[in-house]
Amino acid sequence: MTLANAVKNSAYAMGFDLACVSSALPLEKDRERYADWKSKGHAGELKYMVREEPRRWVPQDLLPEAKSVITFAVNFFSGAKRMEPKRGYGRVARYAWGKDYHEVIKIRLEEWVKGLPGIAGREVKTKILVDSGPLLERAFAHKGGMGFVGKNTLIISKKLGSFIFLCEVLTDLELEADVFMEDETKDACGSCKECMADCPTNALVAPRQLDARKCISFWTIENKGEIPLEMRPGIGDWIFGCDICQEVCPYNGLSKQSQWKDFLPEAGAGPYMNLLEVLAIPSDEEFRKRFAGTPILRSKRFGLQRNAIVVAANQKFAEAAPLLKTISLNPQEPLLQSHALWALQQLS
Ligand code: SF4
Ligand code: SF4
Repeated sequence: MTLANAVKNSAYAMGFDLACVSSALPLEKDRERYADWKSKGHAGELKYMVREEPRRWVPQDLLPEAKSVITFAVNFFSGAKRMEPKRGYGRVARYAWGKDYHEVIKIRLEEWVKGLPGIAGREVKTKILVDSGPLLERAFAHKGGMGFVGKNTLIISKKLGSFIFLCEVLTDLELEADVFMEDETKDACGSCKECMADCPTNALVAPRQLDARKCISFWTIENKGEIPLEMRPGIGDWIFGCDICQEVCPYNGLSKQSQWKDFLPEAGAGPYMNLLEVLAIPSDEEFRKRFAGTPILRSKRFGLQRNAIVVAANQKFAEAAPLLKTISLNPQEPLLQSHALWALQQLS
């Protein structure tokens, strides 16, 4: 057995669903694609995507001795079918139904790297990345054959679909790289364009080109300010994130239930949030207590309530009017106040 296979097998034994190896050589082709995407302004306000840019395709900037990149995939599909939208509730993107993957996966990877010296027969230098360092992880996952890049811009595994978390370990081990077996002249999506057609805000402006300025995930999670008026109707009933472009993908039709209990809906916020309950959260402290350990914390209390206001207006959910009135009278929180005033107009 090659060292690379021994390393990957030990990862499977620890519960990782997929693992692949690519060399840590810098990615020149992807540098060009990235520059093109950025020059079109599609990064919008995603400042972390632009910051520290030169390090994104040079693993040695993160671990000077890096020879290989091991990419892991963790399936987070809960198995539950998405229910229809219902009045008075906001929908949550699947990845956020359970616990925050950053901590959960990092703990497992830290345990896993402890076994590497035993497999390699020497000390091993490593750097763990769980969405925690500037690396073009999708490009390394693709290079190592984990899957192809769909028109929705995501890595799609033919075994697991796209409901997967990616994470990496950079190492000084020189491992045999996996070879990407796809015919690169063919589009693995074929003639399908479901994700592009069904995106409610037309954020997929061309195959594999996401304009973050139009994406509901950006506006409901990353954006910490106003949601522009023209974006609000398209947000529909999404209170945190959006994953329509994955739900409609035929490659996700055969997704299997995750073995990671932390990512099942019972472990976190679940697929729906009650709008009245969200609007009534009285303080940041209460918010942090309620959503401790989940990805929902990322939007902060005011962000989640801002989203709930937009969803209530989109649903014409008149039962929210009393709470909206209270919020609209509070000058201490001008962001929520302005959204609440707008929502009350929509309701009337
Ligand atoms: S996450 Fe939603 S808004 Fe963003 S590209 Fe996918 S379908 Fe469109
Ligand atoms: S929905 Fe169709 S076009 Fe979009 S990523 Fe999936 S297979 Fe490709």
